[in-house]
Amino acid sequence: MHEISLVQGLLQQLAELARENRTTKVVSVTMDIGPLSGVVEDSFRFGFDILSKEDDLVSGATLIISTTPVTYRCCQCNYSHQTSGTRPDCCPECGERFLLAEGGDELILQKVEME
Ligand SMILES: [Zn+2]
Repeated sequence: MHEISLVQGLLQQLAELARENRTTKVVSVTMDIGPLSGVVEDSFRFGFDILSKEDDLVSGATLIISTTPVTYRCCQCNYSHQTSGTRPDCCPECGERFLLAEGGDELILQKVEME
């Protein structure tokens, strides 16, 4: 489960932010996770639950995950179609099957609330 190491990376990032802001408590963390990032939201949440308990800085913090959209662009007519991650079978405009995915692979620390 590679989400554990991603959460470890996140906690390190939070520790640095807390040092910079001279705070000792993180209240909430908002992450943007794209459906094509390969990150399983439930696993990420699970990893956060386990690791945050052992970390005074983030214990009890709320993890908010927002899923970013994926845009599929048609190679034929350039029609773009925004989805929550499911690839359309073909272009709804012209029926072309070759669609390019744009975005949706992000794993971004969007917002941190500290005390
Ligand atoms: Zn098309």
